[in-house]
Amino acid sequence: MQNEKFETSLGHVLVVDDDPFVLKTLSFSLMAMGCRYVVTSTDVSQALLTIQNSQPPVEIILSDLNIPGIDGIEFFRRLVEANFSGGIILISGEGSRTLSVAENLARVRGLNVLGSVSKPVKMQTLRSLIRNNFTPESRTTDRNVPAPRLVSAEALKHAITAGKIEPWFQPKIDLLTARLVGVEALARWIDPSEGTIYPDQFIPVAEQHDLMDELTMLMLNKTLEHRKRWKQEGLELFAAVNVSMSSLYDLNFPDRVEAAIKAANEENSNIVLEVTESQLMRELEGPMDNLVRLRLKMIGLSIDDFGTGHSNLQQLRDLPFDELKLDRSFVHGATVSDTTRTILEASFELAKRLNLTVVAEGVENQSDWNRVLEMGCDQAQGYFIARPMPGREIIDWAKSWKERSAHLIHFDLAHRL
Ligand code: C2E
Ligand code: CA
Ligand code: CA
Repeated sequence: MQNEKFETSLGHVLVVDDDPFVLKTLSFSLMAMGCRYVVTSTDVSQALLTIQNSQPPVEIILSDLNIPGIDGIEFFRRLVEANFSGGIILISGEGSRTLSVAENLARVRGLNVLGSVSKPVKMQTLRSLIRNNFTPESRTTDRNVPAPRLVSAEALKHAITAGKIEPWFQPKIDLLTARLVGVEALARWIDPSEGTIYPDQFIPVAEQHDLMDELTMLMLNKTLEHRKRWKQEGLELFAAVNVSMSSLYDLNFPDRVEAAIKAANEENSNIVLEVTESQLMRELEGPMDNLVRLRLKMIGLSIDDFGTGHSNLQQLRDLPFDELKLDRSFVHGATVSDTTRTILEASFELAKRLNLTVVAEGVENQSDWNRVLEMGCDQAQGYFIARPMPGREIIDWAKSWKERSAHLIHFDLAHRL
């Protein structure tokens, strides 16, 4: 029956499971659902070869979490290495707790997880997972472009030296008052022939070729210029710049940041540096001195993508941070598992006791907004509020936000009553 099949007929699905019976039933059902090619594999190495070589490319992988010889987590790592950008559905005989932990792990590695299903797999569940969550170009970032194509190091170096990389700014909103309080600078490479090039295409190249430091300083200097213009228009904002771990190893980094802020006639305390939690936890010892020095200079420090890096509460207490940004995998969508909720609640409690500002990232709709408000987050950031925009648009946006936020507060009040 036509309406039983996918509207956008699915091309190529790979099923990985060590049980031949599961493979057989799943491939039969997938074909019946309208998939044109279904390839099965009981072996991960063979599955990876299929992913690398098949034409048309694999669009969706359905994979068991427990395949002999390799665990699901290692499989995710290999998929990231293979630049797999299709959808992933996890299947498991394990309880839903294991599945949701694995789902989060895969998501934070940038994999496009459509969801998970428990065995025995119900066709209805699988069908609605794919139908609701998969579009061939579905991605984890804010635009519809194909999988990242990395740029050349020379071109990037040239772009940085020539100042062709611009900060775009995404607003940060105080949840209680709905006031605009700050912005985060996100790098955009505006190339006349290529158009806008996004950070996932050039940050890895900058990291590999020792260009991060120059990029950070370019972003900081341009951000300071924009901030000055907004101030002249009467808008005082905290401005956050993302910082790579490599910069935190450089003992001169805090002084260079301070010098740049001074040269712009600004206060250190108006600038926030964001460091991702996963990078930080991997290499905590080296950068600690620099973090403390930045903190002593009153430069704001924020732990980015919190919840993805496995820091324990003790580490959270010992780090000199003043802001914690909750990763968007815990914010967008209502499905936070009980385990995750417990971890989040404990982290939140400690964050409050340590006086950290908690920012929710990835607020994409009204219900995300309501939920993070109820959770007790202090600030929100995400597409629901605004997408990143060029610095010159911030003033007009701030005016339009004033009107919109008045409605939002009314909505919140109505929602609470
Ligand atoms: P991030 O620091 O976690 O920044 C947030 C990313 O999420 C941005 O992607 C932003 O556009 C996107 N985003 C914001 N709101 C939403 C939302 O509601 N839903 C979804 N799905 N996404 C949202 P972008 O600009 O592509 O940046 C990706 C990452 O690249 C950043 O993640 C950051 O780690 C890195 N990055 C960007 N600019 C710089 C930079 O200047 N220096 C360094 N070191 N890293 C940077
Ligand atoms: Ca960030
Ligand atoms: Ca983040």
